[in-house]
Amino acid sequence: MRNGKIIIFSAPSGAGKTSIVHRLLQAMPDSLGFSISCTTRTPRQNEIDGKDYYFLSLELFQNKISQGDFAEWEEVYPGRFYGTLKSEIERLWLQDRHVVFDIDVQGGLNLKNLYPTQSLAIFVQPPSLKELARRLHIRSSEAYEDFQVRLQKAESEITYAKVFDKVLINDDLLEVLSRAKELVENFIT
Ligand code: 5GP
Repeated sequence: MRNGKIIIFSAPSGAGKTSIVHRLLQAMPDSLGFSISCTTRTPRQNEIDGKDYYFLSLELFQNKISQGDFAEWEEVYPGRFYGTLKSEIERLWLQDRHVVFDIDVQGGLNLKNLYPTQSLAIFVQPPSLKELARRLHIRSSEAYEDFQVRLQKAESEITYAKVFDKVLINDDLLEVLSRAKELVENFIT
């Protein structure tokens, strides 16, 4: 694709970016494609390998690091690695679609540095830390220690909102979705 763009959605875990990204992709299936990340964490119930993530062993992930296969990668939580394959971005551009990322804050900023002019970096901000803690608790797919780790990380990630191109406060899903769609449409046209 000529002029392929990169649209980054970053947020602390539990801020609701995954719902926004999924709905945005459903609303604009011809022009947008989801960048499927690699991870070494175990799949949650109803997550599908090759759709939500490429679930890799630590060994395979490390091989890909040493072969230089990743555009970016990170140990997002202790012992748990996440990364974007260069081939994934190419795959979607070859389909003539702009690439949408659901990625943590540091990964989002790394991608922004790699593709400074081609990318739009959007920070999804939870209405408050209290609300974020409530959502993480309700999700309850995480063990208690994981919940604490995610909450602590979220507190520091929120301070990076100002470095992003745009900030969307996720207080009402439908409203935030329509604002996200407008931002993306303006950026890709
Ligand atoms: P989860 O385990 O909840 O699916 O994801 C944990 C965090 O890792 C989320 O903030 C998610 O956006 C982020 N993440 C997912 N894929 C990638 C990736 O390829 N690179 C980086 N740096 N973070 C990612």
